[in-house]
Amino acid sequence: MNTSEEKHAIVTGGSRGIGRAIVVRLLKDGYRVWYLSRTIAEQAEDLASIAEQYQQSVTWIACDIADRTSLEQAMKVVMEQTGWVDLLVNNAGITRDALIMRMKDEAWNHVLQVNLSAAFLTCRALSRHMVQRRQGCIINISSVVGLVGNPGQTNYAASKAGLIGFSKSLARELASRAVRVNVVAPGFIETSMTEALGEPAKTQLQNQIPLGRIGSAYEVADAVAYLASPAASYITGQVLAVDGGMTM
Ligand code: NAP
Repeated sequence: MNTSEEKHAIVTGGSRGIGRAIVVRLLKDGYRVWYLSRTIAEQAEDLASIAEQYQQSVTWIACDIADRTSLEQAMKVVMEQTGWVDLLVNNAGITRDALIMRMKDEAWNHVLQVNLSAAFLTCRALSRHMVQRRQGCIINISSVVGLVGNPGQTNYAASKAGLIGFSKSLARELASRAVRVNVVAPGFIETSMTEALGEPAKTQLQNQIPLGRIGSAYEVADAVAYLASPAASYITGQVLAVDGGMTM
């Protein structure tokens, strides 16, 4: 039975990397968490025991967020199970890199669908409920690439910059109903998305980071937890870069 003291969060892409770290952090912060991904989380049993330890619950919803019908259905299922959602984190993201002259339509469309259109669909589905409750928080995970660009990533950069403009507009739409919308823009974070880079490329990258190291998924999760918390109650429409100082 749901009680009004419960906090409910949805995280897209919670199966690994930054999303999984966000799920863990939110469980520790007292949320019941529903996460969407195509595959179940790495070490799903560990997630279940963390949830138990904090007297919360974690539920996987199998969903390809590039499939709009499946995503809209997933939002309905979660709303039926939860009754309300306090926090939505649009984290799932992909890269399909190519220089523009070689970029296939499919690589462009798929990246925009997963990284940007899915956030539009989840926000559209849930903002009505948040507005009615006059309570809610949305956090979209962009990237420093959306701020400064990157060769070979026109599709990814467009999706991540789009997410920033989208979030600022939505923040303005929902602010009068006390619903906050913010963006976290990670720099280089140690996950499967970045592990494909060889050691020489990693060392080169590290040299461009003022703090001199690649970040951890938990450092991004900390920023999400802060923006979701009452400590950030007067913050909306902002982009918080978690990048070791790369874009200062
Ligand atoms: P990751 O390790 O590759 O994890 C991506 C997550 O997204 C997985 O849980 C994956 O789950 C999910 N996902 C991908 N496509 C999906 C789809 N079609 N439907 C449902 N779920 C899908 O990536 P990450 O490094 O943690 O990145 C997380 C977010 O941070 C992304 O938005 C990324 O752009 C952003 N970011 C990352 C970095 C970095 O350095 N790592 C830097 C800046 C921004 P399944 O595969 O199970 O579906």
